[in-house]
Amino acid sequence: MTEAAEKETAPPTDFIREIVMQDVQAGKHGSVHTRFPPEPNGYLHIGHAKAICLGVGLAREFGGLCNVRMDDTNPAKEESEYVDSILADVRWLLTGWGEPNIGLKPVGKTPEIVTVDGRRDFQLRPLPYGEDAAGLAPFYASDYFEQIYVYAEQLVRAGKAYVCDMTAEETDQYRRIGKESPFRSRSTSENEDLLTRMRAGEFPEGARTLRAKIDMSSPNMWLRDPVLYRIRHVEHHHTGDAWCIYPMYDFAHCLSDYIEGITHSLCTLEFEVHRPLYDWILQSLELPRSLPRQIEFARLNIDYTVISKRKLLQLVNDGSVQGWDDPRMPTLSGLRRRGITATAIRSFITEIGVTKYPSLTEFALLEHAVRQEFNRSAQRRFAVLRPIKVVVTNYPEGRVEELSAINNPENPEAGTRQLPFSRELFIESADFMEVPPPKYFRLKPGGEVRLKYAYIIKCDKAVKNEAGEITELRCTADLDSKSGGPTSNRKVKGTIHWVSAAQAVGAEVRLYDRLFTVPEPDADGDFKAHLNPASLEIVKAKCEPSLANAKAEERYQFERLAYFALDPDSAPGKPVFNRTITLKDTWAKEAKKS
Ligand code: ATP
Ligand code: MG
Repeated sequence: MTEAAEKETAPPTDFIREIVMQDVQAGKHGSVHTRFPPEPNGYLHIGHAKAICLGVGLAREFGGLCNVRMDDTNPAKEESEYVDSILADVRWLLTGWGEPNIGLKPVGKTPEIVTVDGRRDFQLRPLPYGEDAAGLAPFYASDYFEQIYVYAEQLVRAGKAYVCDMTAEETDQYRRIGKESPFRSRSTSENEDLLTRMRAGEFPEGARTLRAKIDMSSPNMWLRDPVLYRIRHVEHHHTGDAWCIYPMYDFAHCLSDYIEGITHSLCTLEFEVHRPLYDWILQSLELPRSLPRQIEFARLNIDYTVISKRKLLQLVNDGSVQGWDDPRMPTLSGLRRRGITATAIRSFITEIGVTKYPSLTEFALLEHAVRQEFNRSAQRRFAVLRPIKVVVTNYPEGRVEELSAINNPENPEAGTRQLPFSRELFIESADFMEVPPPKYFRLKPGGEVRLKYAYIIKCDKAVKNEAGEITELRCTADLDSKSGGPTSNRKVKGTIHWVSAAQAVGAEVRLYDRLFTVPEPDADGDFKAHLNPASLEIVKAKCEPSLANAKAEERYQFERLAYFALDPDSAPGKPVFNRTITLKDTWAKEAKKS
C-alpha cells in the first residue's frame, strides 16, 4: 500500500466528525446523510474539493451518502454547461476512493409524497451511483419548487408568513432599523389570496414578497422578517417558465435538505448567522421526520490565487486565462489539466483538516502533496527544453546504440527503457557556458561532463554563426567510459541529460507558473493588477522517442527539470506537455531572498 493510500484509510478527526459521532451515538439518525450543494454558476474550484471531501468522507465513515444537489433557486444566472462540468468534476475528484458514496437520483424524478405518522410529507430517496451512473442525475433544488411552495402556504396558514407590498429598498431600510412592515398584520385569508395571485403571475416584478413573521427586534438581522419569496418574471434553466415567484436561498435550502433526508448540512462560516433562520423555518412547519442540522466550517483560502467563482469568471471572460480549465486556474478542471491528480488533492485536503477558524493555506502544501506522489509514481524521461546541438566527433556516423535507462529509481517495478545514442545529440543550452563562473560543473570549453547512461564527453569547440551565436558544440567522447567500460568509474563532477537528435520527438511544452505574484491578490480588491505576466512560457522541446507514445494518465519527470503531463491538445506524433510542477519549490527561494 502506498503512503497516500494509508493516509486515506485512517479517518481524520475534527470537530464536525465529533458532533456527527455524538448524534449517531445518541441515536438521532439511522445513517448519516450529507449533501454537496453547488450553485451552477461556474466551475468547481479547490475550495469545493474541501466541501466534497468532507461531505463524502462523512458519508463513507458513517455509512451513508452525500447527495450532489444543484442549488439552482436563483433563476437568472445558471447554465447547463456548469451542471455538466460540476458532475464530471465531482466524479473525477472521487476516482480511486473506493465506493463513491455520492447520492444521485433517477433522471426526471421529483419528490414523492409520502405519509409519515399520518401526515403528508415529501421525500426523495437517493441512489448511490455506483460504477454506472447512466440514467442518474444530480438533485436540483428547483425540483422542489412545488413542495417548497406548499410549505410556504403552510406557514401562511399558521400565521407565520405574510405578503408584504414594500419595495426591496423599503424592506431593507425597515429591517435595518427594526421597524415592522405595515402589511405584517394582514389576515390569513388575505395572505393566502395574495400568495396564490403572486404565483399566478398577477403582479409585476418586485411588487410584493412573501416574508416570514419572526421578530423585527431580533439582534440577528436574518430573523427580522426575512423575505421567503420574490417575484421574478424570468425563465429558469431547469423549470422553464413554470414559475414567476422564486424562493430565497434561506427558505429553499433548509427545505431541500429536509426533503432529501439530509442529517448534517455542512456549509461555510458565513452561514453561521443564518442558522437560527434555518432552524426556525424547519421547526415552524412541524415536520414529521427528524430535522437536518446545519454545521459551519472555515472555507479554504489559498495563497497566490483567488478562489471564488465570480472572480474566476472574470479571468475567463477578460481573457486573462484561456478558459475555466486553463492549467493556471484553481478550478478542478484546471488542476486536472495541469496534471495534478485527484489523489494528491485529496491528501492535501486531509492534511489541512477542518476547522472553525478562517485562515490562509499555502499553495506550497498542495505542491508538496503532488511532489510526494509524483516522486513515487512518475516515469523518468529525458527531454531538452531549450536545445543546443552536440556533435560527438569521434563517434561513428550512422551508428545508433540502445542504452538502458531506469524508469523510476523509487520503484524498481517500473523497469527500464531503451534510449538511443548517436553522433548528434541535443543538450540543454543552460548546460553549457562559454565563460563559466568558478565551480561550474556542466559543459565548458575544454571541460568534461557525463551524459547520463552514456559517455563522458569533452567540449573541444563551440561553433558560432556570423552573428556570434553558438550553433553547435563539437565534442569527443571517452568511448571507454560507458557503464561497465574500463573508465566507467572515472569521476567527473557534472552529469547532464541529453537526447539523440535523429530520433528526437518534437514537443510543445507549456511551462506554467503561479497566476499571481503576491500571496493575497485580492487583499486590495484589485486582484487583476497582480497577475503574473510570466505565468506561461511555451517552448519547443526535443524529447526522447518513447515520449511519442506518452499517455494522458501517466505523469512524467523530465529528469533534472520538472514533472509534466500530456495535454489534451496533443495529436498523434505531436505531443503537448504541461509542466505540472517544478522539482523543487522555486518560490520558497524567492521568498527567502526578499
Ligand atoms: P463562490 O464564492 O466560489 O461562488 P460559493 O460558496 O458561492 O463559492 P457554492 O457553489 O454555493 O459556492 O458552494 C457549494 C458548496 O461548496 C457550499 O456548501 C460551500 O459552502 C462550499 N464551498 C464553496 N467555496 C468553498 C471554499 N473555498 N472552501 C470550502 N468550501 C467551499
Ligand atoms: Mg453560493
